[in-house]
Amino acid sequence: MYRIGIDLGGTKLAVGLADPSGAILSEVVSHDHVGCDENGVLDRIVRNVDSALARQGVKKSEISGVGVLFPGHVRWPDGVTLTTSNLPGFKGFPFRASLQNRLGLPVVVDNDANGQTIGEFHHGAGKGSRNMVFLTVSTGVGGGIVFDGKLYRGATGTAGEFGHMIVDVDGPAVCTCGNRGCLMSIVSGLALRETYRRTMVRFEQEGKPALLPTGCTDLRELNGQQLSAGVLEGNEVCFSVTKEFGTFIGIGLYNIFQMLNPDRIVLGGGLLNLPEPFFGTALSTLFDKAGMMMYDRLDIRKGELGGNAGIVGAISLLEP
Ligand SMILES: [Zn+2]
Repeated sequence: MYRIGIDLGGTKLAVGLADPSGAILSEVVSHDHVGCDENGVLDRIVRNVDSALARQGVKKSEISGVGVLFPGHVRWPDGVTLTTSNLPGFKGFPFRASLQNRLGLPVVVDNDANGQTIGEFHHGAGKGSRNMVFLTVSTGVGGGIVFDGKLYRGATGTAGEFGHMIVDVDGPAVCTCGNRGCLMSIVSGLALRETYRRTMVRFEQEGKPALLPTGCTDLRELNGQQLSAGVLEGNEVCFSVTKEFGTFIGIGLYNIFQMLNPDRIVLGGGLLNLPEPFFGTALSTLFDKAGMMMYDRLDIRKGELGGNAGIVGAISLLEP
């Protein structure tokens, strides 16, 4: 039997058809769902599914199921979407039931981080592990937990929201959730400019040059690529921010180690491409704090699925 994976993002809608081994046979990508309401999004999903099937000459009766990744909170297992900051609407929307009606196929819906987690576990850097944690650092910080070979969702499906772990309770950073010192309020694409601004203020107080990286004339437009370039050109503010990012990711990894004692942690997301001292600082922070409490050195790897993580993750939701 074939399977269908759907990666619904804020700007991109990708539908993939996989053969029984999980190999992607065809992929239909569109962007015209942006700004649509719930039914408009479903129309475009159904259209892309039909064209993915037509391209390969596969019939609906040969499809065993459809996995959907949603960019926001989803109630498990009924697939009601609760919140999303990436699409209009979808508050309390019965996504799973609605799409099942439209397609006449069994559907599962989960949030995108859970999907990437199970995708890396079955097909990427998590292969061979048993208890795995996935941590993604990009615009926000998210993740997922595989416990004894299965995705662990918790009581209501929100397990693995590592971005809201509080790592600096008295610190200056305030999160989108309203709390102070969440991991993603310090280290994320969303937090980058504010963390950079605080570091510039500190440099000024210390009488050191507080410069933006070359190519960035307005702090409000600073992005991860410019931060990386700044580190490589020797900008000390960029170096300091990158080191602070590494330190707090290391504290997050340490907390994950203490809570879950996984045998592997897989890291994903665009900010992982930051140059040193990011990754080295994260690892040294984790291992220094763990000390003798860590018996076997925790295996930490970078994700392997890259651009295909969404569709592979959606298809992996259908695996036993
Ligand atoms: Zn938060």
